[in-house]
Amino acid sequence: MASRAAGDYPEVPEPLPHPGVDTHTHLDICTGARGPIKTGEPDPEVEPGDDEEFPPLSFFHDTAMQAGITRIMQIGCDMRSARWTAELVAGEAAAGRDWMLGGVAIHPNEAPRLAAVGLLEESLTEIESLTAGPRMRVVGETGLDYFRTEGEGVIAQQESFRAHIEIAKRRGLALQIHDRNAHADVLRILAEEGAPDVTVFHCFSGDAAFARECAERGYYMSFAGNITFKNAADLRHAAAVVPAHLLLSETDAPFLTPHPHRGRPGGPYLTAVTLRKLAEVRETPLAELCAQITANAEQAFGTWDL
Ligand SMILES: [Zn+2]
Ligand SMILES: [Zn+2]
Repeated sequence: MASRAAGDYPEVPEPLPHPGVDTHTHLDICTGARGPIKTGEPDPEVEPGDDEEFPPLSFFHDTAMQAGITRIMQIGCDMRSARWTAELVAGEAAAGRDWMLGGVAIHPNEAPRLAAVGLLEESLTEIESLTAGPRMRVVGETGLDYFRTEGEGVIAQQESFRAHIEIAKRRGLALQIHDRNAHADVLRILAEEGAPDVTVFHCFSGDAAFARECAERGYYMSFAGNITFKNAADLRHAAAVVPAHLLLSETDAPFLTPHPHRGRPGGPYLTAVTLRKLAEVRETPLAELCAQITANAEQAFGTWDL
């Protein structure tokens, strides 16, 4: 992702036959508000750079509307992004734009960094206070990422995950989980703590068997652009067995840009590509699938209407 100027983005796909929803996106990264991200991990040390060009927020709004993605969930998952998210979400509503709700948390890859400098606890307190706005509906993304973390870091991740579960339950909000190579421990900790009423596996990464386990527990499963990747047959099998009422869609933009644009930067509008693939995999008419997922999203997170 060498450049993120507007011209580097894939063209807007044909509009959906029914409005769709992106339940997990990072406009803080897309617009450069979080600073240049090289590894996909939040890094509190990095200041926004002058060397990279980012499209403005209006680019992401307009392309989303053109593609038929009329509702999005903005996720801020380091402290700077979380503050930015709470402010942006309130500001969009104040301006009469109803496209955006928000969520905040400390990302599982960020928790060990904060713990190492003794800031995890006070950061968690601030995260809880940032969820106070009426359009803040998600505690997330939190969870476990054993791909990037080991040793001491895992202890901090688990502590942070447990604390976020508590925050979601106290505030009556949905929990969005980031689970990378950690399926068993995520399920175990959810069972130990007691899962919030609405628990979502964002960017679902399991196979059909794991999807069935999540469905038994009533957890939502949200699929991102990687479902279109050539090597993602297991993920497509998983998407095919998710009960219709637990299915969600997202981009995780600017990451996981769907095939055939893989490797380029993405925005919420590309949820339209993922929805088309989901409809194909589930052998469901596209308009019906979009209507179902929109209803699921409003069931899980509440209404986007002002
Ligand atoms: Zn994630
Ligand atoms: Zn994410």
